[in-house]
Amino acid sequence: MKNDYLLLTPGPLSTSDAVRQAMLKDWCTWDDEYNKDVVEVIRQKLVSLATKQHGYTSVLMQGSGTASVEATIGSVIGKNGKLLVVDNGAYGARIAQIADYLNIPCHVISPGETSQPDLNEMEKVLATDSSITHVAIVHCETTTGMLNPIERISTFAKQHHKTVILDAMSSFGGIPMDIAELGIDYMISSANKCIQGVPGFGFVIAKQSELEQCKGQARSLSLDLYDQWHCMEVNHGKWRFTSPTHTVRAFYQALIELEQEGGIAARYQRYHTNQTTLVAGMRSLGFEPLLNDEWHSPIITSFYSPTHSDYQFKEFYDRLKAQGFVIYPGKVSNAECFRIGNIGEVYPADIERLIVAVEKAMYWKVR
Ligand SMILES: *Cc1c(COP(=O)(O)O)cnc(C)c1O
Repeated sequence: MKNDYLLLTPGPLSTSDAVRQAMLKDWCTWDDEYNKDVVEVIRQKLVSLATKQHGYTSVLMQGSGTASVEATIGSVIGKNGKLLVVDNGAYGARIAQIADYLNIPCHVISPGETSQPDLNEMEKVLATDSSITHVAIVHCETTTGMLNPIERISTFAKQHHKTVILDAMSSFGGIPMDIAELGIDYMISSANKCIQGVPGFGFVIAKQSELEQCKGQARSLSLDLYDQWHCMEVNHGKWRFTSPTHTVRAFYQALIELEQEGGIAARYQRYHTNQTTLVAGMRSLGFEPLLNDEWHSPIITSFYSPTHSDYQFKEFYDRLKAQGFVIYPGKVSNAECFRIGNIGEVYPADIERLIVAVEKAMYWKVR
C-alpha cells in the first residue's frame, strides 16, 4: 500500500514501507517474543542511542508524546518541588500548563516565540530562588523549529544542583547528543518523530539513580513513570496496562532502519541537507524563514506567509497536496507563517521536487 502524499510534518510523519508492514502481526503481551525480544531490546537500544555512559535506563509510556511529558513532570517532582521552565513556544508552554494542572509551583521564563531565553535571567532566578528543584527545557521547539541552547542551560542548572528535564521529542534520533555529557536527568521523546515509527507511545530515558527516588510520588496512576519503569524492570519488558503492540513492533523495525542508515549522525546529515535544500529553494522563490539561520534546527522550518491579498493557506496547502506534499500550518501567535518539516522518510531529492511543486502552487503570483 502506497501513500498518496509525503508528510512534511513533524510527526506523525512519513514512514518506510517496512515499518508499516511490521504492524501486520498480532502479539501476546505476556509472551517472551514480545516482552523480551521486542520491548526489552527497544529499551536497551534507546539508552545506547542517548548516551555512552552507564547508569541510564528507559521507560516506555502509552499515549502521545505529551503523556510522557506529563508522566515525567507528575512523577519526578516531589511534594515540595518547584519547576523552572523555558517557554518560547507551544511545547514549553505545555510543560508549564502541565505543572499548573498538577498544582506544581512553576517559574516560567518567557522570551517569546522567536527569541532564545536570557541565560543571565535564568541564572539569576536559580541563584535567588532556592525552592526550585527542577529545570525543564524543550530541545527543538517544534512551534518554530528553534534549537534551544540546552548545553549552557543544563550546565548552570547542574552547578546549582537542579534536576534537568529535556523535552527532546522532535530532536532525539535526529540530532546527535549524549544526555549524560549534557547533564540531562530525564529526556523525553516519542515513537513518531525522528526514530520514524508510528504514533502510540512515548519514552523517557532517565538517570536510574534519580528515577529510583520517585516511588510513590506520581500524581496519576496511568502516568506513574516510576511504577511503569519498575514493572518493566521486574517483569522483563512487561507494561503495566495494555501496550500498543503493533506500534511497538513497528518502532523496533524503525530502530533497525536507523542503524542501517548509519545511526543518528547519518540521519542528522540527511535532515540537515533536507533543511538547507529547503531554505535555499524557498528563498529562491521569495519566501523568508521566521528565525535567524543560526537558530534553525534540521527538524522543521517556519516561513512567513506571502503578504499578497489572494494568498490563503488552505488553497496553497491543497495545491501542494494535489502534487504529493502535505505541509503544516503555522503555530506562532504573532506572525503569519506556515511550516515545512524535514524529518521522516524524506530525502533531499524529495525536497527538490517540493520546491518545483511550491513554485507551481503559488497561484497568487499568476492571477
Ligand atoms: C510532538 C511534540 C510533543 C508531543 O506532542 P504529542 O502531540 O503529544 O505527541 C512535545 N514536545 C515537542 C517539542 C514536540 O515536538
